[in-house]
Amino acid sequence: MAEHEHVRVAVVGSGFGGLGAAVRLRREGITDFVVLERADSVGGTWRDNSYPGCACDVPSHLYSFSFAPNPDWPRTFSGQRHIRAYLEHVTDTFRLRPHLRFNSEVKKMTWDAERLRWAVETSSGSLTADVVVSATGPLSDPKVPDIPGLDTFPGEVFHSARWDHDLDLRGKRVAMVGTGASAIQIVPSIQPEVGRLTLFQRTPPWVMPRVDRPVSGFERALHRNLPFTTQLRRGLLWGIRELQVQAFTKHPGELGFVEQLAKRNMARAIKDPALRAKLTPDYRIGCKRILLSNDYYPALAQPNVDVVASGLSEVRGSVLVAADGTETEADVVVFGTGFHVTDMPIAERVVGADGRTLAETWKGGMEALRGASAAGFPNWMTIIGPNTGLGNSSMILMIESQLNYLADYLRQLDVLGGRVALDARPDAVTAWNHRVQERMKRTVWKTGGCTSWYLDASGRNTTIWPGTTAEFRRATRRVDLAEYEVLRPAVTRTSGKAAETEAAV
Ligand SMILES: Cc1cc2nc3c(=O)[nH]c(=O)nc-3n(C[C@H](O)[C@H](O)[C@H](O)COP(=O)(O)OP(=O)(O)OC[C@H]3O[C@@H](n4cnc5c(N)ncnc54)[C@H](O)[C@@H]3O)c2cc1C
Repeated sequence: MAEHEHVRVAVVGSGFGGLGAAVRLRREGITDFVVLERADSVGGTWRDNSYPGCACDVPSHLYSFSFAPNPDWPRTFSGQRHIRAYLEHVTDTFRLRPHLRFNSEVKKMTWDAERLRWAVETSSGSLTADVVVSATGPLSDPKVPDIPGLDTFPGEVFHSARWDHDLDLRGKRVAMVGTGASAIQIVPSIQPEVGRLTLFQRTPPWVMPRVDRPVSGFERALHRNLPFTTQLRRGLLWGIRELQVQAFTKHPGELGFVEQLAKRNMARAIKDPALRAKLTPDYRIGCKRILLSNDYYPALAQPNVDVVASGLSEVRGSVLVAADGTETEADVVVFGTGFHVTDMPIAERVVGADGRTLAETWKGGMEALRGASAAGFPNWMTIIGPNTGLGNSSMILMIESQLNYLADYLRQLDVLGGRVALDARPDAVTAWNHRVQERMKRTVWKTGGCTSWYLDASGRNTTIWPGTTAEFRRATRRVDLAEYEVLRPAVTRTSGKAAETEAAV
């Protein structure tokens, strides 16, 4: 990185969010930007999660950029390898490579109130930027629980997002800790080859069948030759999910019949009543993410699988002890225990106008205006920020809404002209979050009787958007300047000379 480098925009992260931001910047005619990425390739989630069976759980034709439709998705729910290849393809198609800075982990971003710019320190050097777009991902920093005695375990231990591909699991005794979206893809993929598989389940998930199949040659040819058919397919997939939102957000009672379908899905594969009892959730479906799988339950019914209906609480050498006292010997432990979502590590590294970090500002819970701007952090915007997550549809829809907001934000800065910054007004942030949390009260995520990674330590849901993606699209179409303070270097007269200090106008 060149010394004293200054860019108009520094994007952090090169997953769907960061790459989408880069495409949007170029389309807005902005080429003076960099994409800082700690790894050595693009892809984010789809680079880091290469565990056996990893695939999206939203159909591919919806889980992709609207501006980069892919007629050649091989399956309705494509696997990690194909999604990663898609992101590489997007990078090439939109000529993003010159902007990418790999092996550049952002260590600190500090707002320089005098010069109205961000000072960004990375593992490969420093730079300054007028605007920072933080796209570090809600699910990018793996979370491994602090289990007493884990350091005494003599075998291999790794997180699902850091799969050890050099390890041969054939014939091994493997313990899978967790029953989230990753675990239910891993379990059926490794069950046939491992000697014994023990699943530590704190809470059973609701699992629905997955309508997954290869996309036929005819369909692909149709999409290639008549591009509107891809849009049509995408539109249908989107519309179905939009119609489901009311049940999640306003009428959770209506989800009862979906529970019946999920129970039937389980009953088809699990004949043992004791195992069925262990696997039956005691909370409303949708409260935690609804998982999709056709082979999870059949795998759990196999003779080499044990389900321990209790969390892992202690490790004594090669013996794993569950909270209910069950002891299991294992050679390998795989943690499918999720990510730092409501306590994102990047927040520790962003220092705002008053010298406080974003993590300090958010210690009572994450909040940002329209999911993007935090008060006291001028010209800093996050992609997939607080309350932008979805329980039932594609995150790419939310990312693209945030890109509209980003584009308008940059246009507003241009219109205002000169050296200028926008800082979200605290009252606007509070009002936005009040509205979000009011709507949250009736949702299944609050009333469904579960705890989930959607909730922060105080039980507040700071991750999920309690509405339709269309509502979010409307809310992020334009930047409302009334919600921001405009910061300019102020001119103060001292003995006839002009000196600049920051001021809000
Ligand atoms: C296994 C799995 C399956 C999923 N399936 C779906 C699905 O089917 N549908 C759906 O809608 N969503 C799904 N998601 C959610 C998914 O995370 C989002 O859809 C989307 O990929 C997020 O993109 P992103 O760019 O915001 O974050 P990421 O893809 O996580 O990218 C963030 C990038 O930022 C980089 N980074 C982080 N910190 C720093 C730093 N300090 N300095 C420099 N670089 C940094 C990371 O290395 C990474 O490359 C899934 C998530 C996982 C983990």
